[in-house]
Amino acid sequence: MTEADTPLVEVALAVPLFQTFRYAIDPAIPVAPVVGSRVIVPFRNRKEVGICLGSATSDGLRQTPKRILEVPDAHPALNDRMLELCRWIAEYYIVPLGIALRTALPAAMTGAEHSQPARKTRRIVRLRQDLPTLTHRDRAFARAPQQRLVFEMLESLGGTSTLDHLLQKLAFSPSVLKGLERRGLVEIDAEEVDRDPFAQRTSRSAAALDPTAAQQQAIATLKAGAAGDVFLLHGITGSGKTLVYIELLREIVDRRGQTGIVLVPEIALTPQTVDRFRAVFGDRIAVLHSALSEGERYDAWRALSRGEKRIAVGARSAIFAPLENLGAIIVDEEHESSYKQGETPRYHAREVAIVRARAEGAVVVLGSATPSLESWTNAGSGKYTLISLPERVGGGTLPRIDVVDLRHRDVQRPDTSSGPGTGYSAVIREELDAALANTLQRGEQSILLLNRRGYSAFVQCGDCGDVVVCPNCSITLTHHRSPERLLCHYCAHQEPLRVTCARCGGKTLRHRGLGTQQVERLLKDRFASARIARMDVDTTSGKWAHAEILDRVAAGEVDMLLGTQMIAKGLDFPNVTLVGVVDADVGINLPDFRASERCFQLLSQVAGRAGRGPKGGRVLIQTRVPSHHAVRCAVTHDYATFVKDELEGRVKPAYPPNLRLANIVFSGTSDRATSQLAITGANWIRELLETQTAGEITLVGPAPCAIERVKTRWRWHFVLKSSNPSAMTRVSRYFMEKFPVPPALRVTLDRDPVTLL
Ligand code: ADP
Ligand code: ZN
Repeated sequence: MTEADTPLVEVALAVPLFQTFRYAIDPAIPVAPVVGSRVIVPFRNRKEVGICLGSATSDGLRQTPKRILEVPDAHPALNDRMLELCRWIAEYYIVPLGIALRTALPAAMTGAEHSQPARKTRRIVRLRQDLPTLTHRDRAFARAPQQRLVFEMLESLGGTSTLDHLLQKLAFSPSVLKGLERRGLVEIDAEEVDRDPFAQRTSRSAAALDPTAAQQQAIATLKAGAAGDVFLLHGITGSGKTLVYIELLREIVDRRGQTGIVLVPEIALTPQTVDRFRAVFGDRIAVLHSALSEGERYDAWRALSRGEKRIAVGARSAIFAPLENLGAIIVDEEHESSYKQGETPRYHAREVAIVRARAEGAVVVLGSATPSLESWTNAGSGKYTLISLPERVGGGTLPRIDVVDLRHRDVQRPDTSSGPGTGYSAVIREELDAALANTLQRGEQSILLLNRRGYSAFVQCGDCGDVVVCPNCSITLTHHRSPERLLCHYCAHQEPLRVTCARCGGKTLRHRGLGTQQVERLLKDRFASARIARMDVDTTSGKWAHAEILDRVAAGEVDMLLGTQMIAKGLDFPNVTLVGVVDADVGINLPDFRASERCFQLLSQVAGRAGRGPKGGRVLIQTRVPSHHAVRCAVTHDYATFVKDELEGRVKPAYPPNLRLANIVFSGTSDRATSQLAITGANWIRELLETQTAGEITLVGPAPCAIERVKTRWRWHFVLKSSNPSAMTRVSRYFMEKFPVPPALRVTLDRDPVTLL
């Protein structure tokens, strides 16, 4: 066969180039690659794992194509439907197909070094011969008493043991085992172990609950769903959404013999929810935990693709679970921003879920107490079907929420007049302090929420709570010190710092929020006898750190749980009777168009942690803007009014869901070069927009990002706004493919961003 006759295949590689590559099939390789097969190929002096997209012609080839080095699997890694899904991701989120495909596979399958994923094996020692009589035995081991010990130990263990056990626990020497093996008395084999780290967690017993009438109705509606239908399950906190998911899965998996995917925002934060699924479905579930090792992930992936596991539960990437015959995809807490991937490809798992379900004929359930504005709007327009669970299970009521008004009472720091005080009585006001003390005294538990420390400082009137916002963009202006000014991080509008409030003449104060550690110290000084636990990124880096802290709360070993937004989700502790929010304003005033929405969701979620037991509960929110709709509607548990107000606020200037955004971010180690490139890029787009698609896309910026630096890189951005998705795709793709970027700088595009920080 001449080189020219060698069949060629088209291969997608996870490299930052918008193209596919052609390789020759090596006839010496026993497995022929088919569509979806992994192939190991040479690429620029290294090996890459690619995905075969099918046969290719040699048309227009300028060089002799290189040969495929290896086809590692007997079966394709991705079926046609998964390939299609990845094509959609590549197209919509403007990324090379190879990068989308890499995202859909476990890391162990896509690193070139791990073309054969390192699987955990253990070595098993087995007896191969009987030595039935003592005489046999005495003779066989006359000069090897140690071998006799091992031999008899194995007998007493039923004939097999792991090598580790014999060597480590029982302290036999390896040479003794080698001796036994050499004489054919035992054999030592490698055995693959499927690791399931969740198996070590005990599941709560599966006490079967009878669905309430409202739950029954929801379940019936879902069961009657047609292929590709999307349901928005709007159920207040404690309304029993999890049971609805479970009953739907019972139908899908047990009765229809199909499979299901359950997405949760982050498994580490929701061990209780996961335990409830495990209690019902046991080992038919694969839990795809973010702390799994590559090998563990690969085990789970294989178990799902072989049909040994029927349900995948996991965070966003579980949407790529290799299940066949998919019947349902559940997206719990669908409003959570963690469903959006923060790196390329910046896909939204909720959107991918809907696309996948349509292609595979599954139904989608989006569940939330505080649905995203996007989903709510889609339910309003009839695109999704709305199902409501407006009441708590068992006649429980939502907790009473009170506001602690921080205005007029900001305690000035002695050294400067630029910010509110940071002493205990300035941070925890009387009402909240008294409530904490009472709760402690009654032997009940409190949760204290502290918003993540603000990325940026804002300036707020101490008297009326007013904050200066951008006249163009309606987002909070950020206070910068050198030179002193207020800056909009969307459009770069600037104005001088105001020391007095334009509305009431009161004195303005700079805010940035406190760290959890600071507040923990203050609490420990105030409540010396209290057992205080802190949950934030610093205390939860360990693999099981979240679960451990939450288990301690459940066991009553914690009096006060202090933490960032990670404590707001999914927790169901009947003895928590007080929830305090230390400073709602830090969240409301993030310079982001979704700041109010996030804050409302957070307040509603965290309030939902209180009063889940018979003792009831209350919530205290400290704020300087009690009349802000995010606070006001959270206090009255009024989602509908919040959404109405918030949607009105997103008309002019327009923000999603009234149109769509793409955020284009430039970064580099030189501030000047980065800003220059952002300006050049914005001009480039502006010219393009003038010649094409006039009026369909508008550009805002460029401006420095609100998070101006990440590690050593400076960040600038501009934003594209459009109501026309295909125009957005066209312009975005043209920019990402054609705009020249110097090697030291980077450009990323985030379509439908959940934040513009
Ligand atoms: P949500 O997820 O909607 O906030 P959950 O699913 O966590 O609510 O349910 C809240 C509590 O109510 C849980 O403790 C759950 O076990 C309980 N629960 C749910 N449905 C029922 C039911 N039908 N009967 C009794 N208890 C229920
Ligand atoms: Zn602006």
